[in-house]
Amino acid sequence: MSEEKKESLEDQFKEIFKKANISFMMGPPPFQQSGGANEKVEDSQEKNADRIKPIREFNLKPRDIRDYLDRFVIKQDEAKKVLSVAICDHYNHVRRCLEDASFQETEYAKHNIILLGPTGVGKTYLMRCIAKLIGVPYVKADATKFSETGYVGHDVEDLVRDLVKTANGNTELAQYGIIYMDEIDKITAMPTAMGKDVSGRGVQINLLKLMEETDVSLFSQTDLIGQVQAVMDMQRGKGPGKRTINTRHMLFIVSGAFDKLPEIIKRRVSNSTIGFSQSESAGQKDAEIELLRLAQTKDFIDYGFEPEFIGRLPVRVVCEALAAEDLERIMVSSEGSILSQYRSDFAGYNIDFRMTPEAVKAVAQRAHNEKTGARGLMTVLERVFRNFKFELPSTGIKSFEVTGQMIEDSEAALEELLKKKEMVRREAIAGEIRSFAVDFQREHGLEMIFNKQAIDALVDLCLSENKSGHALCIERFRDCEYGLKMIARNTGEMSFTVTKKFIEDPAEELSRRIAKSFEKK
Ligand code: ADP
Repeated sequence: MSEEKKESLEDQFKEIFKKANISFMMGPPPFQQSGGANEKVEDSQEKNADRIKPIREFNLKPRDIRDYLDRFVIKQDEAKKVLSVAICDHYNHVRRCLEDASFQETEYAKHNIILLGPTGVGKTYLMRCIAKLIGVPYVKADATKFSETGYVGHDVEDLVRDLVKTANGNTELAQYGIIYMDEIDKITAMPTAMGKDVSGRGVQINLLKLMEETDVSLFSQTDLIGQVQAVMDMQRGKGPGKRTINTRHMLFIVSGAFDKLPEIIKRRVSNSTIGFSQSESAGQKDAEIELLRLAQTKDFIDYGFEPEFIGRLPVRVVCEALAAEDLERIMVSSEGSILSQYRSDFAGYNIDFRMTPEAVKAVAQRAHNEKTGARGLMTVLERVFRNFKFELPSTGIKSFEVTGQMIEDSEAALEELLKKKEMVRREAIAGEIRSFAVDFQREHGLEMIFNKQAIDALVDLCLSENKSGHALCIERFRDCEYGLKMIARNTGEMSFTVTKKFIEDPAEELSRRIAKSFEKK
């Protein structure tokens, strides 16, 4: 194709995008490419090695991961152990495949994971922390947003493309990323009021393909810009570049609350000889968790999962419900907890706060009542701090203490705090006014006695004009000493009461007093 023709094609595309109001970027493609005709082979090999450094250098032990998780996640000891082992096995295997290509050929079942347990207990958080520690890209999505065909909502392959985006286009590293899908229990093919949900089954099958091994196109069918960009690159002689990404070494985690699963397990267990006595004595939630721990492949199939799908999720972990005391621990001892986020938000205005142990207990109890696990903490803290966050930054308050009472009625507490602050500020200004009077007497030998109304009026003025008491007095009483000295000469008075009237118009009031002093002479 001639150079002229190429440019005109480019212009045509530009024109199309302009009409559609889509910005069109020339220059580097959105995805980093390797193997293009113009690239030096050694160069790209070196670059690739660097791009997957976290995998090549992976040398963590399960205990290292567990210890790291302990800093952020409270409880979930069993989940931490199981996940640490699964993650180490997976990334050790991947590293060895990179070290020795023949290792790829060995039979290996991937450690895809299914996490079960109530909402807000740290399932997602555990995986997010792990991905951060290892340095691999991580994406999370709710299974409910996908449909079998991708017509409604999204296609599961979008997750793989999102992984590439999270890795800033580093497709090499994205191959080893972690894909997390929540609410997996909502895509079962369980009979519903509308009949059997076939769409859920379709999503499972699509996901299954990804979990096994498949090549996913880097551009979705709806990604017009990406597709055009690829055509442009071809025309510019950059070669075909990398067009697909393989999912063989991606790790898949699915999770869900599985509310109805304990019931299925209970039926199976009570039919068998195992028996299940603890559930009767423990609290209902704990009993359900205990039952979830007994989940077998058959239970998941009865729940509505495809056997092949559930078979690809060999690592099953149950996360426990969190008690009010656990929420208390999250607030005081977990790194990066929502409370530390609030602390940091206030620190942005140089405001510090401390919470009394009673306040922490009260927040934890309220959060627990929300029944949304640690998410309840965010709900309660948001409610408590909402108005504080709005008001305090403009008050000059630099610290405050959150008490149990404050949690009970945060609005009243804020009002009281603001009132107290206002009183302290007014008292400080009144002090400045009195010290002005002392300076005035020292300098001129005349005493200015400010009565209460005068002080109040001056403080109001200082506040409305945003001036210090001292600055305002100097401004208001400039040259007053001449008039007062005149009065002193006429009457012998050395002390003068400063009234509200005097504050409002010092010149007028002074003239009146001077005139009167002449009468007394
Ligand atoms: P889910 O179990 O529904 O996936 P998440 O992991 O998303 O819940 O939890 C929501 C938020 O609550 C997390 O981002 C984290 O801040 C906090 N959180 C949840 N569980 C724990 C926990 N066990 N320890 C510390 N923080 C937690």
